[in-house]
Amino acid sequence: MIKNFCNNLLVDTLSLALLNLNFPDMLPHTLERNPRRDNLDLQMVSPFIDRLTDFLDRSPTPWHAVANVSELLERAGFVRLDERSAWALETGAAYFVVRSDGALVAWRQPTDVVGWTIFGAHTDSPNLRVRPEPIMKKEGYFQLGLEVYGGVLLSTWFDRDLSFAGRVAIANEGSVLSELVDFKRAVGMIPNLAIHLDRDANSGRKINPHEELPMILSRAEKDADLNFRELLAREMDRSPEEISGFEICAYPVETSQVIGLEGDFLASARLDNLLSCFIVAEALIQNDGAEGTMIVLNDHEEIGSVSTSGADGPFLESILRRATIEADFERVRVNSLMISIDNAHGIHPNYASKHDEGHRPLLNEGPVVKVNANHRYATTAITQGIIEQAAERADVPLQYFSSRADLGCGSTIGPLTAGRLGIDTIDLGCAQFAMHSARETCGTKDPELMLKLLTQLTQRDLI
Ligand code: ZN
Repeated sequence: MIKNFCNNLLVDTLSLALLNLNFPDMLPHTLERNPRRDNLDLQMVSPFIDRLTDFLDRSPTPWHAVANVSELLERAGFVRLDERSAWALETGAAYFVVRSDGALVAWRQPTDVVGWTIFGAHTDSPNLRVRPEPIMKKEGYFQLGLEVYGGVLLSTWFDRDLSFAGRVAIANEGSVLSELVDFKRAVGMIPNLAIHLDRDANSGRKINPHEELPMILSRAEKDADLNFRELLAREMDRSPEEISGFEICAYPVETSQVIGLEGDFLASARLDNLLSCFIVAEALIQNDGAEGTMIVLNDHEEIGSVSTSGADGPFLESILRRATIEADFERVRVNSLMISIDNAHGIHPNYASKHDEGHRPLLNEGPVVKVNANHRYATTAITQGIIEQAAERADVPLQYFSSRADLGCGSTIGPLTAGRLGIDTIDLGCAQFAMHSARETCGTKDPELMLKLLTQLTQRDLI
């Protein structure tokens, strides 16, 4: 019966294989199967995409992302340095520094520092964050008060299975330690209102974040009490007295997945901008001969970058100065190049008029160069020239994004770094759909095309 169905629809052999592979899913014992694994069995995606999806799923918060990149770096032989200590850097060695748990700089120490090639990305994503005194009891339910972090596409957070993760300050004999926590399982949801109770829901619904976002955690009996610090303590196997502060994010528990008839797309939370974080980390790790290559992963991009670990803070400059040993920093600075990588808006066929006619990036057609006359993106004629030549040598296609003249465009860490450090900068990114949704989509080919381009740039022969 399945075969006839396929023939009728002229489904190709790949789809037929998918149907056959999925057939056992009808049996109860196969419920634990991860659909992404089926795609991998069919070799629809590369090992790189497999590693990427693993990283995305393990990184529900900026702090988890930095911990996971740190682990990757340590496994590749990078040495962790403490900003509070004196450093004795050795040429040819590889180092990294973490600041405030959410930002990281890593590099390969050059024999002779001429200039740095810096790949930058940001670790934070728009999301919903738990308030300091979050528990509410309302209409027979325990609810959790949430604040909006960054430019969240709010409607996408409704009717999702949500969990919590974040970092917790642990009191430790007069000092404070930072520890990560991840509940991993779905602990709540923000249900939509039935359409019968809001007949205008499909015609321009407005969301009041204060009234409509409190998350439902459980039923609440009349005399019952709930304490969020106690919840955290139980999850972390600690006493409530040890919990002396927290930054906790809500996140959807659904894992990332390769989707599309031909496996063209990758759907996941936090693609903006953990996709770029993973690519730049791979570019540094895979190129062990690339002396003078540095990566910076900044926190707080989605809320303006002004912080100790944001791109408008002193982190990168501080590390650059310390890593530029026995050389004139000012000369090294002007010999350096910053490549800021953050996702770009791929054209959505249902909303094509939102893009300028000449600048309509497609998923899986290569890295997008972002240009803006008002310098919301830092790309200049010269850095554009460098990237075009690098792309030609690497045999990687490029696309351009320039927003409609009547639509403002976003910005990223590129202009901030260019402005703070005076380093020539280019803004690049992989095209994606639904930026700032709880579930974003990018192409499965673009991440490796971007990696190939960055690998070419580590050669420094164009800078
Ligand atoms: Zn971004």
